[in-house]
Amino acid sequence: MERMKVAVLGATGVVGQRIVAMLDRHPWFEVTALAASEGSVGAPYGQAVRGRWHAPGEVPEWAAGLPVVRCVPGVDARITFCALDANVAGPIEEAFARAGYLVSSNAKNHRMSRSVPLVIPEVNPEHLSLLAMQGYGPGGIVTNPNCSTTGIALALAPLHKRFGVSRVVVTTMQSLSGAGYPGVPALAIAGNVIPYIEGEEEKIEKETVKILGNGDRPAGFRISAQCNRVGTTVGHLATLAVELERKTSYEEIADAFTEFRPLTAHDLPTAPAAPIALHDDPSRPQPALDVDRGRGMVLTIGKLRPDPVFDWRFTLLVNNLVRGAAGAAILNAELLVQQGLAT
Ligand code: NAP
Repeated sequence: MERMKVAVLGATGVVGQRIVAMLDRHPWFEVTALAASEGSVGAPYGQAVRGRWHAPGEVPEWAAGLPVVRCVPGVDARITFCALDANVAGPIEEAFARAGYLVSSNAKNHRMSRSVPLVIPEVNPEHLSLLAMQGYGPGGIVTNPNCSTTGIALALAPLHKRFGVSRVVVTTMQSLSGAGYPGVPALAIAGNVIPYIEGEEEKIEKETVKILGNGDRPAGFRISAQCNRVGTTVGHLATLAVELERKTSYEEIADAFTEFRPLTAHDLPTAPAAPIALHDDPSRPQPALDVDRGRGMVLTIGKLRPDPVFDWRFTLLVNNLVRGAAGAAILNAELLVQQGLAT
């Protein structure tokens, strides 16, 4: 099959670099353009990221020589991945959608718009039908959730489906890479925890119920989030307490997590065989040990046990750069292709 041409906006950032690395030898996509800010434009990509390459391995050879271009329509691509700073992403994404490109975005700007799908392919692929409301013709904007929300919504999806979720309390411990590059100053975080990440709690509370809703209406449960920045490099840890509408057993909850396999790599190349792994060691998940499970696409859940206030509590770990960002955007683009929306 001829590969579809794609471009990456914000290709020099922490998330953009991961997208470039994950698109190396992608079976469906071929990268034709890498775009970033004026400060990077004109330089070969390899030079633009020199000294700040954060993805595993080396800069792919085909990418290193591509000149970085401006974030303006005109690139030879059908899909554009957006990993732009949210201060500039909104109007740039609209310009690309208006020009007929499908935009698969990591940025927060359009996530809560009524006509913009906020999608996790294993959870709410049917929300892609919202694209028709955007009025961009062949173009459109599809978003993936905030990096913490991705893990939280993915964990709650099988519980909500089988038992009905009625209330959730979540506390996050989020890694430094979640703040991009150069991110949080070393002196502010070394030996410290910062109990504030601007806008993060609101994003978790609003995005989770949009994803688990029916496209028209958000899900009816309440969720309360508290977010902390910690000194780990990659991987957001979260502890959750969940109240369910139908009371159930440990075995049923464990089955709900492990039997949740709505997609396979056969359907979409970046999809893991099972998106959730349940660990029975009470000291897991840990960012240092579990962040790369399933090449970063698998959520690890552990410490599943009864909760004396709500019904159940557990800890989850999501790879914020892969499942929560680059891999999420690529999976959404694969879904667009699989559903015939990116012809
Ligand atoms: P980052 O490392 O700061 O990268 C930002 C990118 O935006 C760089 O490529 C930068 O290009 C480009 N940029 C900045 N100002 C620009 C301008 N005026 N015009 C054109 N390009 C400009 O940020 P990041 O962590 O990769 O995050 C990228 C997006 O993904 C953000 O919207 C973020 O909220 C979202 N996100 C991040 C994570 C995560 O875990 N980090 C997870 C989910 C979603 P230069 O290098 O040329 O300056």
